[in-house]
Amino acid sequence: MPRLLLLLPSTTYRTAAFVEAARRIGAELTVASEQPSTLEAANPAGLLTLDLQHPERAAEAALAFVRQHPIDAVVGVDDDSAVAAAAVAERLRLKGNPLHAAEAARDKHRQRQLLAEHGVPVPRFTRHLLDEDPQEIARSVAYPCVLKPLRLSASRGVIRADDPASFVAAHTRLKAILGSCDAAFLVEDFVPGYEVALEGLLVNRRLHLLALFDKPDPLDGPFFEETIYVTPSRAPAGLQKAIAQCAERAARALGLVEGPVHAELRYNDRGPWLIELAARPIGGRCSAVLRFGDGVSLEELILRQALGMPIPSLEREAVAAGVMMIPIPGAGVLREVRGVVESKAVPLVEDVQITAHPGERLVPFPEGSRYPGFIFARGARGATPGAVEAALRESHRRLTFVLDPS
Ligand code: ADP
Repeated sequence: MPRLLLLLPSTTYRTAAFVEAARRIGAELTVASEQPSTLEAANPAGLLTLDLQHPERAAEAALAFVRQHPIDAVVGVDDDSAVAAAAVAERLRLKGNPLHAAEAARDKHRQRQLLAEHGVPVPRFTRHLLDEDPQEIARSVAYPCVLKPLRLSASRGVIRADDPASFVAAHTRLKAILGSCDAAFLVEDFVPGYEVALEGLLVNRRLHLLALFDKPDPLDGPFFEETIYVTPSRAPAGLQKAIAQCAERAARALGLVEGPVHAELRYNDRGPWLIELAARPIGGRCSAVLRFGDGVSLEELILRQALGMPIPSLEREAVAAGVMMIPIPGAGVLREVRGVVESKAVPLVEDVQITAHPGERLVPFPEGSRYPGFIFARGARGATPGAVEAALRESHRRLTFVLDPS
């Protein structure tokens, strides 16, 4: 049986899907996490503590581990563990991305530099330090623009500014979020247009398109909370092809070679624009919306590819499907969520998962980024992406979040 090293940060929604995928393909699992587990001594081949924030250290520790327990592949599941996985793969000579490529994908400024150098369409950008005078930066940039941290994710801290006054206000918020004066941030031209998310799998530098999601709610700011993803995209076929080519050029520019890719792109009358490309699969619980061939999960594809096992199909099932990241209903402590049964009863809705728990403090964007739950919908054969989208909206309409205001 092949053995797979799975890098799982202690706070992730991804555990169940990856563990199930490993079980399905008959792989032995070693799960590595930052926090030592009390069970490690009882299961030395199955559990490992790795410093996922320090890729070189993680690689060193993995090297010591494989002397006792050889592994055949390493897989990360999110932004940081993807970088640690690249370091481990490089050190152990396993399939994976070069460390420099994974690091470039992880850093929004380095990514922008490489994409611009390679002619991938990206907005104009400048890097600034948080302790520079915001008034001065505000006078020098073009509007509308977007301020963004270099290493956060899920749109946290990403803020649009339309004029110098809103720039200075956005800067104050970003500074509070980052909590340190020497941190850097990017200022980019705001790219108007429609947004899509692309899910892909790199196999020896070639990007296979797994799914293209429309984001039917406009993402025009000032904050960029995600809501609905629906696939297949309703963009014209030629445009979809151009979007996929743009993402593939971006992956090449970064030097990525193998494994999952999740990218956000916008398009307008000037064609596709690369907003961000990450060397990891789609986040949160959203991957449950994707099924390939006769029901294979995204996680199974990823593990099979990492282990060099045959992949039955990269073709997504032929039905429309979608997920709603439930908007954060406000600031406050969650008391209860009403209407879940009614929300699940909407035709085409497959599941409603409330992930926030009573007593949890909900923090709206841009300071927060934790959605309180997810709604999944899948069309029967013939149901359009529009019908899936309508089902998600109706399901959401039936939910009531009761908060104690903070
Ligand atoms: P994160 O990694 O935190 O999600 P992104 O760079 O992907 O950060 O930005 C989050 C969202 O903000 C994007 O999906 C997009 O909707 C919006 N956004 C970011 N940069 C721009 C830009 N230059 N122009 C227009 N929208 C942007």
